[in-house]
Amino acid sequence: MFRHVMVPYDGSDHAKNALNYAKDLVAGDADAKLSVVHAVPSSYMGVDRMGTDGALDGVPYGMLDYEEYQGVVKRVLDEAQKRVVEDLGDALADLGDRAQVEAVAGASPADALSRYAEEHDCDLIVMGRRGLGAIRGMLGSVSFGVLRATDVPVLTVK
Ligand code: ATP
Ligand code: MG
Ligand code: MG
Repeated sequence: MFRHVMVPYDGSDHAKNALNYAKDLVAGDADAKLSVVHAVPSSYMGVDRMGTDGALDGVPYGMLDYEEYQGVVKRVLDEAQKRVVEDLGDALADLGDRAQVEAVAGASPADALSRYAEEHDCDLIVMGRRGLGAIRGMLGSVSFGVLRATDVPVLTVK
């Protein structure tokens, strides 16, 4: 039924439960694929010049020029992607090349995640109701932000 299911992943218990749920949805359908996506806010890169379209405007900023900044972003995202792959262990092994892990940057995690979903034609987002920051409340700010930003259906998992 679903062709491309996206799981926004922060390593939290709820995100792990969301991933298990999504894996079950995808497993039985050979045409379906799964993307586990971790978002890094651009403010973590030490420079906060990424617009909501995820691109710098090409204007030199601080001590870094545009290409140097792109290099910083690429290194941070590569490292984040590696971290997620390590964290997942063999959790995606059953799905073979129908599963992938990606790291994306954006003005906020919610912004980066909703943009990913739209650009990659995801037809379902399965995410945790809360995440690593869980203190109290029903819905985390990233889940709330994704729900607000996208028209892609979102399923939240505890
Ligand atoms: P808050 O972050 O608002 O303090 P929280 O950490 O409990 O609260 P969220 O961050 O909204 O709640 O997490 C809910 C779900 O959003 C997680 O289970 C995960 O699926 C997803 N998520 C959160 N942060 C990220 C991130 N940086 N990249 C990808 N997915 C994320
Ligand atoms: Mg959080
Ligand atoms: Mg949008």
